[in-house]
Amino acid sequence: METILIIDDSFFNIKLLEGILQKDYNIVYANEGEEGFEMAKVKQPSLILLDIEMPGMNGFQVLEKLQVTKETQQIPVVFLTGVDDTATEEKAFFCGAVDYIRKPFCGNVVCARVRTHINMFRYRKMLETQMYIDVLTGLYTRKHCIDYVNKQWKNSIKEGIPFSLGIADIDFFKRVNDTYGHQEGDRVLSAVADLMKNAMPDDNNYIARMGGEEFYLIMVGESKARALEIMENVCNAVGRQSVCKVGGNSDEEINVTISIGGRTIIPSEKDSVDTFAAIADKMLYEAKDRGRNQVVWI
Ligand code: GH3
Ligand code: MG
Ligand code: MG
Ligand code: MG
Repeated sequence: METILIIDDSFFNIKLLEGILQKDYNIVYANEGEEGFEMAKVKQPSLILLDIEMPGMNGFQVLEKLQVTKETQQIPVVFLTGVDDTATEEKAFFCGAVDYIRKPFCGNVVCARVRTHINMFRYRKMLETQMYIDVLTGLYTRKHCIDYVNKQWKNSIKEGIPFSLGIADIDFFKRVNDTYGHQEGDRVLSAVADLMKNAMPDDNNYIARMGGEEFYLIMVGESKARALEIMENVCNAVGRQSVCKVGGNSDEEINVTISIGGRTIIPSEKDSVDTFAAIADKMLYEAKDRGRNQVVWI
């Protein structure tokens, strides 16, 4: 059940709205702005119904705070208010509210408008998930990775810390497909993704599936020696494990290995992330050339 947060200084209004909405939604509420903002961060509601005139922070101040805060900026906000003038309504939309409902309100209309906004929110979430999370492996997608690399690269320049990229590719994966079929291949891909993820440190374990059976593994702030050590662990974790049994319950096991090429640098303004990635890619080819199931790092 979706959660709706009501922020209103009138307990009467809160109870009225709760009565209208509680059969379809989980209702949480706060009767002042600061508390409402904190609640939004914790409860992550799918919609906020926000009063404008409240003692302390008013509705516009709450909206602004929600919008500049990473954890709350994507939550849609509907003003529900006794303020009945067009200038305020205009300002509400201008500031980023998705709707403006005047008090006294009609219960059915509130229900219908809430439903519309909740549906749009769900739809947006679904699209975002599809765009950023790979369905087969649960890893980040190429699109997510490109944004992440650029952000972390800039941050590493600013902070003067090491940035490491490992490019991993499953060895002779075409053979797996040819021998066991594409469906088994998919199961292997997903199992390899899990093994890689589990072999990365808990607090520094970004992995994206860049396409096919190729992955980017990114570590920020690790020394070159430590990054190499982590990549050796990842490579060994996949290599020593038979990643899955054919058909799930058959005794025949499928064993695959991966090769990883990569690089660690403390980047500066004059460095290009594309050149950096191209060198990491060269190292991957080097690992393949040297016999696969190994890491080549510079
Ligand atoms: P190498 O060690 O040189 O990397 O050999 P390889 O066979 O892994 O390399 P190649 O690039 O020739 O083949 C990659 C194969 O990965 C080809 C393609 O059928 C398979 N593949 C790519 N994406 C998927 C996928 O989503 N599912 C499955 N089952 N196979 C995939
Ligand atoms: Mg009020
Ligand atoms: Mg391959
Ligand atoms: Mg490949």
